[in-house]
Amino acid sequence: MRRLVAIAGAVALAAALVLPASAGTFLSNGWRGKAPVTITLINVSVTDHFLVQGITEAAANWSKASAVEVVVGGRGKNKVYLYESAYGTNFCMACTSLQGSTYTTGASIFFNDTLMTGLDNLGVPGYYKRGIVCHEVGHALGLDHVEDPSIETCMQPGGNYDHPALSDFDHLAALYGG
Ligand SMILES: [Zn+2]
Repeated sequence: MRRLVAIAGAVALAAALVLPASAGTFLSNGWRGKAPVTITLINVSVTDHFLVQGITEAAANWSKASAVEVVVGGRGKNKVYLYESAYGTNFCMACTSLQGSTYTTGASIFFNDTLMTGLDNLGVPGYYKRGIVCHEVGHALGLDHVEDPSIETCMQPGGNYDHPALSDFDHLAALYGG
């Protein structure tokens, strides 16, 4: 976990230095390329019904942004690998690791069954897990958290929404053009 946080921290710092006007909006400079940039989600080991559903939905919802085209599977470039396993209680419930310095060159998303079991036991509705997928894919695209509670987006840390907001699409346009 420490390594993941360190990577994300370094990327966020780089983004803040390069994009001072929008510091806090971007987690990274995004993937290299101009809009529409294709991002490919590769499901390596995700089996939870709601998470699998969330992958399809996240691809469809984020693709509504003019700047990106998010597809599932296939031989596309800009791959984001998605894993699900019992990583233990010292790991995040869900987190994204970005590779690359100036640009994102690879990404991995981890869903932790050890902690998600708690969600299941609480009987949280399926949209919550779909929202987690939406959130992590947003990070993989280069977006940081949205702290404004009036914006209904999955990029809020609270996990109340399972879809992105139009303002997220604007941020992606700022990253990639388009
Ligand atoms: Zn987050």
